[in-house]
Amino acid sequence: DYGTAPEDSAIVRDWLKKHETGFGHFVDGAFTAPGELFEVRAPASGELLASVTQGSEDDVDTAVRAARAAQPGWASLSGHERAKYLYAIARHVQQHARFLAVLESLDNGKPIRESRDADVPLVARHFYHHAGWAEIMEDELPGTAPHGVCGQIIPWNFPLLMLAWKVAPALAAGNTVVLKPAEYTPLTALAFAEIAAEVGLPKGVLNIVTGDGRTGAAIVAHEGLDKIAFTGSTEVGRRIRRETAGTGKSLTLELGGKSPFVVFADADLDAAVEGVVDAIWFNAGQVCCAGARVLVAESVAKRFEDLLEKRMRQLRVGDPLDKNTDMGAIVHPMQLERIKGLIEKGVSEGAELVQGTAPEGCFFPPTIAMKVEPASTLATEEIFGPVATVTTFRTPEDAVALANNTRYGLAASIWSENVNLCLDIAAQVKAGVVWINCTNVFDAGAGFGGYRESGFGREGGREGMMAYLAHPKPKARKPEAAP
Ligand code: NAD
Repeated sequence: DYGTAPEDSAIVRDWLKKHETGFGHFVDGAFTAPGELFEVRAPASGELLASVTQGSEDDVDTAVRAARAAQPGWASLSGHERAKYLYAIARHVQQHARFLAVLESLDNGKPIRESRDADVPLVARHFYHHAGWAEIMEDELPGTAPHGVCGQIIPWNFPLLMLAWKVAPALAAGNTVVLKPAEYTPLTALAFAEIAAEVGLPKGVLNIVTGDGRTGAAIVAHEGLDKIAFTGSTEVGRRIRRETAGTGKSLTLELGGKSPFVVFADADLDAAVEGVVDAIWFNAGQVCCAGARVLVAESVAKRFEDLLEKRMRQLRVGDPLDKNTDMGAIVHPMQLERIKGLIEKGVSEGAELVQGTAPEGCFFPPTIAMKVEPASTLATEEIFGPVATVTTFRTPEDAVALANNTRYGLAASIWSENVNLCLDIAAQVKAGVVWINCTNVFDAGAGFGGYRESGFGREGGREGMMAYLAHPKPKARKPEAAP
């Protein structure tokens, strides 16, 4: 048991104090002097945590040059040598797990139970898994070559985990990296930079430049990069797609979603209710694959809604560092305003809300929206907050039509005791990931990614490795057999 022990918080406080004059970027194996600073606050309390440098075009350029200089040396190591660094990173993440979990919860507002039991263990898992790939890729992925230098831009909802998803495969494959964390949540990326230095990762292999969208745009535009990997909003993804078109840069995009959560009449309703809790109230719904559209068979809808409402009212919303908290803060007051705006619009379009409670401040109560028309705002827009819509269906065909009635296609969750039905429906739902009788299950060995406006490319597993490798070189022709 490592709840939120006061000593864990004390380690984080000491670390923040050590950096109270502000963070620079992590470039070529060391932190640069702080530049123009912006504030990073804890959303749950509003408290100032740290000041971080707004990366300029010059900063991005310096980082890209460091990454480029380091890349041939890094790629020329054997896979086994690269694996040793990735294993070391994984072990150090585990050693610092409590520190990282508390820092993540402070910075992002997510409950400590989530950062401690989901985010941080999955980060370590991702590095272990990709260390394995580095070990075997010469045999398993022959004839491939790293892209070179990768620019990576990540969002604020799983700050350290999104870093792991990007950095681990890139480094395993022999690329070097310039990564920009989101401006709301840069702190665990900076702590991770210290871990990279601690394990002796060669200088320039990993570079972290902080800043907002302007810094991101400078990365996208930099001519010294061979690949851009982006996770974030569909809107910014679209822009990056336009800006990299016609350049030689390889591109992968992990964007938004509006995933369906389909409950058939024969489903275990209690389990499905717990599934909804995970699908839409985990990380306060700030999850790209959140099961935001609950579609339930009409014949059990009333019973299911009653159970769901009862369960929702039990959720404890509050201090992210309290290990009894089920749902923490919304990441930033701007995101809270966005959620409120969408909800107001939904209500003006006729939606009816059932809501739990939340404290004052940067919190939003768990919410169920009923009477939501299929074409309305709440049914179509990604809210990225703790809001589930509930819609009923009559036949499996209706369920599929409703599930696919979206411009996204990231994930789906299907609940029924009839496995044949689940598999049949899974094949018809356009989503990169389909979970059956479960939801939000991730593994470093399974590819994750979307269809349509949810982006393209996969992260995790073999497909995820291939996204960091240039197309296989044609196999050398075998010499003609001697006559
Ligand atoms: P965002 O697009 O605003 O920001 C994401 C990142 O892009 C941040 O680091 C930001 O600084 C940077 N950025 C902003 N403007 C940029 C520009 N013009 N050029 C380059 N970089 C720029 O998204 P957000 O609000 O931080 O994150 C929420 C979104 O991310 C949601 O839509 C969510 O669905 C999506 N998301 C997707 C996945 C996935 O795997 N598909 C995972 C997590 C989040």
